Amino acid sequence: MENWSPKEKKILQKYFTNTQANVFGLVNLPEVIKGTLFSRYSRSGKNLRRLFLDEFWQQDQLRQILPQRNNYENLNISRAENFYERVLIGYGDDSVAELGGAHIALENISVLATKSFEEHRLGLSFLEKSTRYVYFDQRDKNGHYRYYRPPKIIRSPFAHLYQQTADNLFDTYSHLVHELQPALRRLFPGDENDPAYRFSIRAKACDLARPLLPLATLTNMGIYGNGRAFEYLITTLLASPLGEVRLFTQAINKELRKIIPAFVKRATNEKGQQYRQYLQKRQQRLTRWQHQWQTKSPTGKVAVQLVNFDHQAEEKVLRAIAYPWSNLPMHQLKRKISQMKPADRQRLFHDYLADRQNRFHKPGRALEEAYFAFEISADWGVYKDLMRHRILSRYHQIFSNQYGYRIPPYLRPAGLLAPYRRAMDQAQEVQVKIAKEMPVVSQYLVTHGAINHFYIRLNLREAVHLVELRSQRQGHPWYRQVAQEIGRQITAKLPLLGKYIFPFLDNHDYNLERLAAFRKVMKKARNKNIVPFPEN
Ligand SMILES: Cc1cc2nc3c(=O)[nH]c(=O)nc-3n(C[C@H](O)[C@H](O)[C@H](O)COP(=O)(O)OP(=O)(O)OC[C@H]3O[C@@H](n4cnc5c(N)ncnc54)[C@H](O)[C@@H]3O)c2cc1C
Repeated sequence: MENWSPKEKKILQKYFTNTQANVFGLVNLPEVIKGTLFSRYSRSGKNLRRLFLDEFWQQDQLRQILPQRNNYENLNISRAENFYERVLIGYGDDSVAELGGAHIALENISVLATKSFEEHRLGLSFLEKSTRYVYFDQRDKNGHYRYYRPPKIIRSPFAHLYQQTADNLFDTYSHLVHELQPALRRLFPGDENDPAYRFSIRAKACDLARPLLPLATLTNMGIYGNGRAFEYLITTLLASPLGEVRLFTQAINKELRKIIPAFVKRATNEKGQQYRQYLQKRQQRLTRWQHQWQTKSPTGKVAVQLVNFDHQAEEKVLRAIAYPWSNLPMHQLKRKISQMKPADRQRLFHDYLADRQNRFHKPGRALEEAYFAFEISADWGVYKDLMRHRILSRYHQIFSNQYGYRIPPYLRPAGLLAPYRRAMDQAQEVQVKIAKEMPVVSQYLVTHGAINHFYIRLNLREAVHLVELRSQRQGHPWYRQVAQEIGRQITAKLPLLGKYIFPFLDNHDYNLERLAAFRKVMKKARNKNIVPFPEN
């Protein structure tokens, strides 16, 4: 945590619910500044309060806006608080708890813990420091790499082994992320004076070194959400098996009580406790089953497998397209649709889906009628990126290094393959060893490059969003492959609809995939006088 000067502290006290803790809320600020601050998390190594002081406080413009916005003197806030007390606690009318929200920052939280928060979907928006753009080899004041040391492991005989393994991963990460850049410049020569070129080399090196980062890596994240969503988040995560998650959740609860107290009261009252007991008991009951579902020879191969799909997908989508344009009851419409000739069906699909100019033009809701389920075996980094899609139903197995790991390209020509393998082999061996005694906390040593299994179920409309977005050129090549494969497999199951469904799926391979995107940003930045890629 930074040591603020007395002047800085005075400023911060006005806009943040505390100045020292890792969890804090943003108050008395225009929405546009709160949003901008959170979005800066993604590309910056700085903490949010430092960003605020460096980039926003100094602007005279802000000083002018603020006094007009935070004058609550003449408002009867307690009357409104009483209303919420009556409606929420008294009548349990949950929807009114969605009518207010808060921005909460979580800093120095492990990557593993962030997933517990991000697994929540409705009513919450997340922004997280990106492993694809920011270096993660900074050290703390004591010269230690910035990763979480779970008390349970630190108090155990594994303490030394855990820290030595994580240190080795970070040493190797640091070596790779910097040493790869000259090698990439030789492989992909470009104009050194072009910031977009320099930044795409740096970003490529971040992508290639990222597999080494363990889930213990400390990061920053912002959550914006409505009161109801926060209440549910707190209620459920206080039952998390991870102590770190429980601590952060308690801190969120504390800070929200300074901003929207009336909205989150039930998270920790008797009702909240009952809910938690229900979750904990379910967890205990299911734990007893798990020994039946283990193999002694776990395998891991990168794969995307369609495990379930709707054989009537096209029929159901056609019915949903037609329904709003008909006055027939569904059972009659169903019969009519079932009698349609293939050429007419195709024409109807065309009429429904034609003329999308780009991926932002969403297809209609009729596509939500068809479902597909995939098991994905891929590096953990792919899980990290795909799980952020809130419309998916997604399930993962306990994270592990036991299935092996992926090897990024270009390490061999750069002479960096051997140190990569050594660090990953050690992480595999040690994590598996710790997992035998402490499976939950051993997950902190799982690496971004470790192959893991997860399962997603999605409707066709979300599939269009996911496949088109995640196959875009600037995406990480490993999740692009998964998105492209999902697209291919869905298309193959839709003989008539297939040709219209993913017009913006990008199947090309690129070398410096983010160069074009950075050039575009540079062009816009020059026009609008903003700094596109802060290099910290
Ligand atoms: C190239 C790239 C770089 C990225 N970099 C970062 C990064 O640095 N840091 C980071 O944290 N994330 C990053 N992300 C992830 C991104 O922020 C999203 O979390 C992710 O794309 C999934 O969310 P979504 O908005 O695309 O849609 P989904 O969650 O899949 O939802 C589908 C659609 O539903 C609607 N929707 C869903 N939820 C809401 C809501 N609450 N309010 C309004 N509409 C909603 C939207 O229309 C949305 O497009 C990156 C993604 C990409 C593709």
